[in-house]
Amino acid sequence: MKKNELLNSLVLEFKQKHISKNLEVSDYLNSLSDYNDFLQVYKEVLALQHQCFFDIKNKKFKDQLIAKTTELEELQKKYEIDVNKLTPQYDCPICEDRGVVNGNYCDCLLKEFHNRKTQYENENYKFSRFNKNDKDFYKDNTEILKVYDVLKKWAKLYPNVKQKNLNFFGDIGTGKTHIMECIASELIDKGFEVCFTTAFNLNNEFKKYHFGNESKMDDYLKCDALFIDDLGTEPIFKNVTIEYLLNLIDIRQKENKSIIVSSNLMPDEIQDRYEDRILSRLLNKRMTETYLFTGKDTRIKTTK
Ligand SMILES: [Zn+2]
Repeated sequence: MKKNELLNSLVLEFKQKHISKNLEVSDYLNSLSDYNDFLQVYKEVLALQHQCFFDIKNKKFKDQLIAKTTELEELQKKYEIDVNKLTPQYDCPICEDRGVVNGNYCDCLLKEFHNRKTQYENENYKFSRFNKNDKDFYKDNTEILKVYDVLKKWAKLYPNVKQKNLNFFGDIGTGKTHIMECIASELIDKGFEVCFTTAFNLNNEFKKYHFGNESKMDDYLKCDALFIDDLGTEPIFKNVTIEYLLNLIDIRQKENKSIIVSSNLMPDEIQDRYEDRILSRLLNKRMTETYLFTGKDTRIKTTK
């Protein structure tokens, strides 16, 4: 997805939001046309607030404002007027929902940009989060529990971590995908651009790209952290799967962008399936930390 297109459409959307919040106030004021006395006092209060703002030491204006405000409050009660509807209720007081402040994008717009991009890139997928109940899931395996804590800390510290890439190899049902999702959520919360995909879908995107069709390759190359779940479950397309995977890993490693991989295969099986070049890059100890999930009763070893 093009960054500028999304930003431009968000700027328009925010502009519209600012306008509609103001229109709501005008509509409400119009609906009060039967209460002329209220509207008159309301205008006087606004004018006095303005005067007091520019002539802060003038006691006369101040006293008048207090008196008029009391009068206004009484009329408000009498006609059951909703005060909150008299001023625009902006979500962001800094930019008043314009999305732009002093010619720069406001943080509220950038936050929305990040959310939309993440949603788009991950097809609105909802990721699991680190959560206290997880400990029950892993309670039979104290080694996994330890790893869970290590990875939770890794995600909290990211990007200030020694190795920015992670591998989770091992048996089905040991919670690899769950841990990956928790890490993804944490990184998204921290404002990083995350793409989470299965090896199966990734492979299909390779094929689309290979045949010149629209694909997500650009996102997969540029995002801060790419999560590839279930490596080894995808079919191997000749001249595509291995070649593109190799390129993707190469480019991302050169740019020091994270790749987090899970696979039910063990390293020797990965080697058989994908050649040495892929395995050696994936296991690059300088950049990558590898965890072997070897079943409920076996210990998890790290390659360190
Ligand atoms: Zn704002």
